Amino acid sequence: MRNFEKSNKLDGVSYDVRGPVLEEADRMHEEGIRILKLNTGNPAPFGFDAPNEVVRDMIMNVRNSEGYSDSKGIFSARKAIEQYCQVKGFPNVTINDIYTGNGVSELISMCMQGLLNNGDEVLVPMPDYPLWTASISLAGGNPVHYICDEQAEWYPDIDDIKSKVTANTKAIVIINPNNPTGALYPKEILEQIVEIARQNDLIIFSDEIYDRLVMDGLTHIPIATLAPDLFVVTLNGLSKSHRVAGFRCGWMVLSGNKKHVKGYIEGLNMLASMRLCSNVLSQQIIQTALGGYQSVDDLLLPGGRIYEQREYIYNAINDIPGLSAVKPKAAFYIFPKIDTARFNIYDDEKFVLDFLHEHHILLVHGGGFNWTQPDHFRIVYLPKMEDLKFTTEKMREFLSTYKQK
Ligand code: PLP
Repeated sequence: MRNFEKSNKLDGVSYDVRGPVLEEADRMHEEGIRILKLNTGNPAPFGFDAPNEVVRDMIMNVRNSEGYSDSKGIFSARKAIEQYCQVKGFPNVTINDIYTGNGVSELISMCMQGLLNNGDEVLVPMPDYPLWTASISLAGGNPVHYICDEQAEWYPDIDDIKSKVTANTKAIVIINPNNPTGALYPKEILEQIVEIARQNDLIIFSDEIYDRLVMDGLTHIPIATLAPDLFVVTLNGLSKSHRVAGFRCGWMVLSGNKKHVKGYIEGLNMLASMRLCSNVLSQQIIQTALGGYQSVDDLLLPGGRIYEQREYIYNAINDIPGLSAVKPKAAFYIFPKIDTARFNIYDDEKFVLDFLHEHHILLVHGGGFNWTQPDHFRIVYLPKMEDLKFTTEKMREFLSTYKQK
């Protein structure tokens, strides 16, 4: 019998947020060991319920959602997204520029499949949300990582971006607010990125799935609003803000100047048609979710659960000898730095596995986010406070004797 191997297209593609470390945690779980999982940004299992009105909307619409919809999505959902864009100031967006997807994930992959030929380059942040890097590779492109600078609030390093543009660069990806760092980019940084895109004829892809999860009275600025003369694709969805990651509800918006991208849009339309449509039932909740009262706001103010847990984790991590972290401004992740010399750390995946084996707590190593030095890991600070306290106590205990062998 012949062996069936995975396709060559998957060479060099990795997605370590659900990779080998999770496999080890699952193996331990099967042995009966209880694992505290701080590895995925999935609010619902941590007691963050979806808003009742959103769930009720879905129940009310079950019967209306039995058939396929238009491949870009149902009218009410796309109209609500169009209005959301109007309020935020997106230039040149009509209902035809809006596509719903089975989560942002499906659309990231679609955007890259529709754009890239072998060898085309796309600038991606480092660290990144690894689906971007994986999707670029799977589409035959080369992800070229630009540095986000921990010394500067994890903002993209503009000079590094400039130095990495080549004749093959087609696009730049930004993730704002950022996973895994929790950074929120100010206008000056966004303007400089727009200028690089303008000078070099790049498409901008902006992943803004955390735009409603911003703290400290700060405001999220969509990069599309600063680039009316460029073509910008903005991705967003309800997984995080409405705690419905399992419903798979996302969308993308094409804005700005579309004269020179007709061919690409044709490709996107074809890919959208090939998957027929996104889950119609989950599209039904978009209008309600984006209109009126936003229950996520309460979680992000002082006294709110995400805010208080951010305060705790930030202080507790910085209090552990050998660890330091920039304060996250948005989303629900923190990306601490480890003093590698102190613990002789040369392999961040091993660090995370050693901690998992000793304390049964699952984190993700920096390498899972395409961070090349072995000196970071990510904590999802969604679990309840007592679990976060347990985690930081165990981390302190672990590091008090840890030396990597
Ligand atoms: N983009 C970023 C930056 C994310 O962190 C995630 C999920 O963690 C996604 C996209 C995927 O979201 P969705 O559930 O809409 O597929």
